[in-house]
Amino acid sequence: MPYENLAGRTAVVTGAASGIGEAVAVLLAEQGARVALLARRRDRLDGIVEKIRADGGRALAVAADVTDAASVDAAAERIHAEYGAVDLVVNNAGVMLPNPVDDGRVDEWQRMIDTNVTGVLRVIRAFTGDLVGAAAAGRTADLVNISSIGAHVPFPTYAVYGATKAALTYLSQSLRTEFGPRDVRVTNIEPGLTSTELATHIDSDALREEIDGMLRETGSLSPQELADVVAYVSSRARHVNLRQIVVLPTRQA
Ligand code: NDP
Repeated sequence: MPYENLAGRTAVVTGAASGIGEAVAVLLAEQGARVALLARRRDRLDGIVEKIRADGGRALAVAADVTDAASVDAAAERIHAEYGAVDLVVNNAGVMLPNPVDDGRVDEWQRMIDTNVTGVLRVIRAFTGDLVGAAAAGRTADLVNISSIGAHVPFPTYAVYGATKAALTYLSQSLRTEFGPRDVRVTNIEPGLTSTELATHIDSDALREEIDGMLRETGSLSPQELADVVAYVSSRARHVNLRQIVVLPTRQA
């Protein structure tokens, strides 16, 4: 049994309407966790929750926008009302909008910062009390942040995206100094190329094709392979923290 500590946990997964977040939510539910799926597209969430329930799992669709503080607070209220306190938070919602810096796309910079950094902080703020309380009661408590290899490896046109992910990697590292002594585990995962909807939001055909070329050259991870990593790290004994994980397709240098 690869995952031993997930049954009976209560999880929140942001960005669970597709890609990595969807796969994480499905796997955690399969392993016996109750899972609140958070994203903006209610129809997508409803379909995934229906499937999880049909397979015997427990899940809740919570339509929310992490760029909106009131929306995150309302989501937390709903999750608390349905499930009580949570003990596993996966900060996965994110957007990647590459552009040459000279284009000055303040709109896209703002969207990335607001989703990938401030959005994560809003979610952390909403559930910190739960995690600290769960750990104080002797249970396993996890904060898992999905950063990116882009936090370390620069790539033309990805400066702002990389900066948001570097901020998230730093945040994970720094939060460990606050949460670790209280037994709340903080795990930072940095994936490489993974086949999801992420690149479909890029509005430049050339930049989208560039990613497609990289995918052809190096291959990619599947969302399920990332879900396996999330489930593995959060199912270790609570004093074991696989704190920083870089997971890339073997051919991605
Ligand atoms: P997807 O685009 O498939 O998933 C992103 C998810 O985030 C969607 O479910 C989307 O749902 C949700 N989301 C976006 N904006 C918001 C918002 N404002 N509020 C709430 N939810 C939001 O891509 P991935 O699965 O690839 O992305 C997941 C994470 O993995 C991201 O943080 C990404 O940066 C990271 N990552 C991905 C890599 C890859 O190669 N795919 C590599 C490295 C890191 P909705 O639109 O319904 O809100």
